[in-house]
Amino acid sequence: MSLTTKQVNVGGVTIGGGAPIRIQSMNNTRTSDVKATLDQIFRLKDAGCDITRVAVPDQAAADALREITKASPIPVVADIHFDYRLAIAAARNGAAKIRINPGNIGGPDKVRQVVEVCKEIGIPIRVGVNSGSCEKALVDKYGGVCAQALCESARGAVKLLEDEGFEDVVISIKSSSPKLTIETYRTLSSECNYPLHVGVTEAGTVKEGIVKSAVGIGTLLAEGIGDTIRVSLTDDPTEEVYAAISILKALGLKTGGIDFVSCPTCGRTQVPLIELANKVEEKIMRLPYNIKVAVMGCPVNGPGEAREADIGLAGGRDEFLLFKKGKTVGKIIAKDVDAAVDEFVAEVIRVGEQKDKTD
Ligand code: SF4
Repeated sequence: MSLTTKQVNVGGVTIGGGAPIRIQSMNNTRTSDVKATLDQIFRLKDAGCDITRVAVPDQAAADALREITKASPIPVVADIHFDYRLAIAAARNGAAKIRINPGNIGGPDKVRQVVEVCKEIGIPIRVGVNSGSCEKALVDKYGGVCAQALCESARGAVKLLEDEGFEDVVISIKSSSPKLTIETYRTLSSECNYPLHVGVTEAGTVKEGIVKSAVGIGTLLAEGIGDTIRVSLTDDPTEEVYAAISILKALGLKTGGIDFVSCPTCGRTQVPLIELANKVEEKIMRLPYNIKVAVMGCPVNGPGEAREADIGLAGGRDEFLLFKKGKTVGKIIAKDVDAAVDEFVAEVIRVGEQKDKTD
């Protein structure tokens, strides 16, 4: 988290100025489908999402916001491209923040009208600049899309709001390149104290996208840059939230929940560990316990290598050893991997509940 940025309030959730890093995602439902959108928002909230965003491409979506924002358990941000009237309608229909690029909303008069409504209602604006839509003049000036060009584009967009006396602002500058993302936000954070929404856009599917996001977002957060994040994935949006939580946990910016470790396997591995570890992970990662769980490939080195684990499983030739803090505490004799997984998960739950009682 950054202590040096201004703080803004998005529907009761603070961003910047020492607030925890907020996790955001974006619905991929049709916003005009109120039920589908709300169902997804509830799933996002359960996954750990702090703020969600919905696309507002037309009047039907802007109208639907009235019902959505009333029933949503988390703040809803309206994503507007080009049409200032939709921004005004979204703000009036309960959006907790408006995401626009003031540079393409139709000129100073239209910006003024959006600002007036946001001021009246008391909601912030996220200025969203994208490397794909960087102004040609800036691209020419800097000889391509680069950190300087993107920051100048964002500065120009923010100035349109500042000229109207509006500083309740969050900034994002998105690129699909983690390297450019890092360079851009480093430059931006040295130039302003507005809270920053950080993400690598169009990062790809879960496999590629999580790596790119972890590199881009993780590097910046480790340097104290960034106040709110979105992992952008071609997948169910809840996957974005799980990935964001993992990035924050890896950096010690979020605690709690299961900390899962498993060994990389080697020539001593005595069980189908890849299958075993994946199945265990699938079943335990959403459990509410604050414990470390290990799944290791051999009983000789496994318990020692994962000695911080509150509960661990080490695969042997005919049996699985259970261990706690490096010490063997029992065995699971199972007919196959699935049976071993089920018994182990039951043990994880026992240990988790026990720890909750004693903490
Ligand atoms: S725990 Fe055993 S199987 Fe896993 S990497 Fe270490 S030595 Fe190899």
